[in-house]
Amino acid sequence: MDKAIFKTAKEMLDKYLESGNHRKTSERYMMLETIYSINGMFNLYDLQKHLEKKKLFLSRATIYNNIKLFVQLRLLNRYKQEGETKYEAALACRNRCTQICTSCGKVTEIKIRSLPALRNNIPLSRFRGESFTIAVYGICSSCVAKQTRILKQQEKEKKKKSKIAELKKLMPKRLVAKSKEAATAKGGRTEKKEVKKNKKDI
Ligand SMILES: [Zn+2]
Repeated sequence: MDKAIFKTAKEMLDKYLESGNHRKTSERYMMLETIYSINGMFNLYDLQKHLEKKKLFLSRATIYNNIKLFVQLRLLNRYKQEGETKYEAALACRNRCTQICTSCGKVTEIKIRSLPALRNNIPLSRFRGESFTIAVYGICSSCVAKQTRILKQQEKEKKKKSKIAELKKLMPKRLVAKSKEAATAKGGRTEKKEVKKNKKDI
């Protein structure tokens, strides 16, 4: 854990709790410390495991309420990844560039050497910049592959359906022709039988 980053996070929480006369519970600070000790993204289950390692057994409601507060204070980032909600210590992700898939929510950090130069070239207006993040939104390669597969499957189904429709159009005519053929053949036989019968009669 970067101690300087956690110190800033702790100060931000201090300020909020003091200004709103909220309770400064040790649980809150321990939760924040735990979150800032986790490297990368985590879900609620992971967090609970980390808390338990520190002998901190909190109810789900307490964990959830604190998480809600940390997200509100921008101390915690919340992402949706493949239907699952994940979190990451927000201040630890400062000054970085990420690519975010709008389809599955996957977040990947991209290393750019010229990132500080890029940041210095942003003309700020009456503003003292302290940190920044660059997020590039788009579709990840596995989602592109998945979408292509679905499109191909849909195309296949469409072709199959149109073939069936074509066959159905042809089917009645063939059936009618066949049934007519069958009818004439049957009729012919009966005529012949009748002729034979007539011969006997004679
Ligand atoms: Zn994706």
